[in-house]
Amino acid sequence: MKKILVINSGSSSLKFQLIDMATETMLAKGLCDRIGINDSFLKYTVQGRDSIIINKVMPDHRTALKEAIFALTCKETGVISDVSEIFAVGHRVVHGGERFHDSVIIDEEVMETIKECIKLAPLHNPPNITGIKACQDIMPGIPMVAVFDTAFHQSMPRYAYLYALPYELYTGYGIRKYGFHGTSHKYVARRAAAMLNRPLEELRLISCHLGNGASICAIKNGKSVDTSMGFTPLDGLAMGTRSGTIDPAVVIFLMERKKMTTDEVYEYLNKKSGVLSISGVSSDFRDIQAAASEGNERARLAIDVFCYRVKKYIGEYSAVLGGIDGIIFTAGIGENNDLVREKTLEGLEYLGIKIDKEKNSIARGRELDISVGDAKEKVLVIPTNEELEIARETLKLVGAK
Ligand code: ADP
Repeated sequence: MKKILVINSGSSSLKFQLIDMATETMLAKGLCDRIGINDSFLKYTVQGRDSIIINKVMPDHRTALKEAIFALTCKETGVISDVSEIFAVGHRVVHGGERFHDSVIIDEEVMETIKECIKLAPLHNPPNITGIKACQDIMPGIPMVAVFDTAFHQSMPRYAYLYALPYELYTGYGIRKYGFHGTSHKYVARRAAAMLNRPLEELRLISCHLGNGASICAIKNGKSVDTSMGFTPLDGLAMGTRSGTIDPAVVIFLMERKKMTTDEVYEYLNKKSGVLSISGVSSDFRDIQAAASEGNERARLAIDVFCYRVKKYIGEYSAVLGGIDGIIFTAGIGENNDLVREKTLEGLEYLGIKIDKEKNSIARGRELDISVGDAKEKVLVIPTNEELEIARETLKLVGAK
């Protein structure tokens, strides 16, 4: 019975999930939050039981991981009796640059390369590295694997990932499109092939990962050929608080006319934009939708802007793929919000896309084909499971050793 621990380490949080790979089921999961800040706590859930909150002082990730291990192994809340029952650890790493086209077993050289990628992801890779180091420290001898958000998109052709900027920016600084959410896009693409009962290698899929962060991916024969996020996760769709694609001249305008500093522009585009700023209500679609249904015009507009952009990408990627076999909706909004799905696909009948409104209205957090029976282009709602994908990648590499 191989059990894999999946770790997703952020700047002040550490998420973990223990998965039994014999059945591919989650045994327990947790979130250590507010690490290094006051009032830190662990939210811990054993499969089939209510979540519990454990208030603990967690000044750093090492302490947080110790608390996680304690919860997983102690008498009252444990699901394993000893840490040695953990077969391997899979780490989510945001940026693998051009060096990692796939997941890798972590050794010293890999750690060095992940560190080199800090210049591409200064906010994300450092906490990922902190999480890896904490595990190496507390669980020595247990093999670890890095699974990169960017790796799946390394198959994009050069003409898709190059910006029309001076070429030396690419060769000298690595400025190009990388794409993110790769683990999710890869997972749902495989599930789509299973649902359609067709080989992934012959499918043209558009995967719409619509959460707080949102991205779309064109997948041809199982490989990413284009995606909406770019050099950073700021590009592409309008998101909860991120602007997505804008005319880059807006940045110059903000700096010149509003005298903003680089930090202020960063904050503006990443945290104060998106559907939050358009609606003036919230970054959460549930709140926005509630406001819209009460007649709030800006909330309606935010939903329209969001769906319009998704629709435009579907048109774009239909051209890129030369047709579509399936459109996938996943992540918080994609899995649960029938209004967004309906609005997005409205008017795309000319592409052969037709959804069954009844099925659409009941598709919530479970796999369902919501297209009308005779539609050639299938529309699929598929809950993502990035943790399981990371665990599978980890087992594939470590189990094969
Ligand atoms: P992220 O992982 O990027 O933080 P999520 O995938 O959790 O984001 O998506 C968050 C969004 O999904 C929010 O806008 C929220 O309104 C929406 N969402 C999440 N769960 C539900 C649900 N059960 N019903 C409707 N909307 C949901």
